[in-house]
Amino acid sequence: MWVSLRRKELPSFKYYPTAATSGAFEECDEQCDCCHRRRGYVVSCPPSGDFDIDLDWDAMICPWCVADGRAGKQGASFNCVDGLIESGVSQEVVEEVELRTPGIVSWQDLLWVGCCSDACAYYGDVPENEIKGLDEAGVQKLADETGFPIGHLRDYVSWYQPGGSPAFYKFVCRHCGAVRYRGDAG
Ligand SMILES: [Zn+2]
Ligand SMILES: [Zn+2]
Repeated sequence: MWVSLRRKELPSFKYYPTAATSGAFEECDEQCDCCHRRRGYVVSCPPSGDFDIDLDWDAMICPWCVADGRAGKQGASFNCVDGLIESGVSQEVVEEVELRTPGIVSWQDLLWVGCCSDACAYYGDVPENEIKGLDEAGVQKLADETGFPIGHLRDYVSWYQPGGSPAFYKFVCRHCGAVRYRGDAG
């Protein structure tokens, strides 16, 4: 009960609406390395970048220091935005995704997807029933977007489990509603 009450108070993220339920945060009673408070949660993916303060690859940052930009202002970056910069998304949006949005839990560094001159919203691992329910055209789209060979992909789809390997990730355009998948493997 204590945990579920506090979970409701977690910050929300425009480009990662399901952060609280997609594994972006972990319960943790250690203090945040940025604000030095014990908030009960830290982000699952430590930041990269040249952090001002004494942080390393296992730095613990609370969700609030991501949301309000405090960690980002100190040089922490949470997401790989090369794809966004290339697709002409504004610098303001690029910075929101890179510096003020919790990192995607993935096997490799995942490039954030853009569409309609904006960053797409990330919804975590694709649900199992969505992947298993793909028709032939859907599997072809998945192959095109993830780069997995279609022959292998038919097997991957049959044994897919969210959080496993291979992994499929879901982005949705905030304007045209297009669903874009990405994938990787551990
Ligand atoms: Zn903090
Ligand atoms: Zn779009």
